[in-house]
Amino acid sequence: MRKFNFHTHTLYSDGECLASGIAEAAEASGLAAVAITDHGPELSVGISPSKIPLMLQDIEEAREDADIPVLAGMEANVVSADGAIDLDDEVIKKLDILVIGLHTLGGAPTQEELAKNYFLAIMNAMRRQRADVVVHPFRLHSYLAPYLSLEEIDEFAKLAAEKEIAVEINSKYRVPDEGLLRACLREGVKLSIGTDAHTAAEVGTVDWQMAMLKRIGASEDDLILSKFLR
Ligand SMILES: [Zn+2]
Ligand SMILES: [Zn+2]
Repeated sequence: MRKFNFHTHTLYSDGECLASGIAEAAEASGLAAVAITDHGPELSVGISPSKIPLMLQDIEEAREDADIPVLAGMEANVVSADGAIDLDDEVIKKLDILVIGLHTLGGAPTQEELAKNYFLAIMNAMRRQRADVVVHPFRLHSYLAPYLSLEEIDEFAKLAAEKEIAVEINSKYRVPDEGLLRACLREGVKLSIGTDAHTAAEVGTVDWQMAMLKRIGASEDDLILSKFLR
């Protein structure tokens, strides 16, 4: 199965190198493709909107020098319970890949309620936003999927399938769990691989994802890779 990494950060948000460094590390690690996905502007470490053209230019230059596809992406933040994100359509249409992640939520008295609020916000974001991938699903300060019902997990997987949004297997936080991924496979959801790399050294470290894919019986057809690479 070909390896790839559709979740990396550069100096434009909180990463430590430029797109060229990510692309070189991806190639050296034998990845078939890589996506650069810096944080949207609403996160404190996110890119300032005025720098987005420069970021795209930087990715373009990295792409020209690379022997593998280097996708221009961003990690948009889900910023409210109604599922709004922090990028507008003008920016989104310039991207090859849009990944969405939830990083902040109002406080809740219990983990169950926090999980419920996360669920509602991410479901709303998936309903309203044509995104390619939902990253580190149900990871906030801790992993919240265990506080959801099996019906809610199924609802999440069904919506991802309907909206053709891939679900990321994220090695930084080691989420989601096997049960959630199996629900995704059952519904025909595509899976993505992301290390959430903030350094070049973290770009090629996808062993955890590959082991997980094997464990759940996924094949290359179950991956989002084919959407971007024949
Ligand atoms: Zn994130
Ligand atoms: Zn990230």
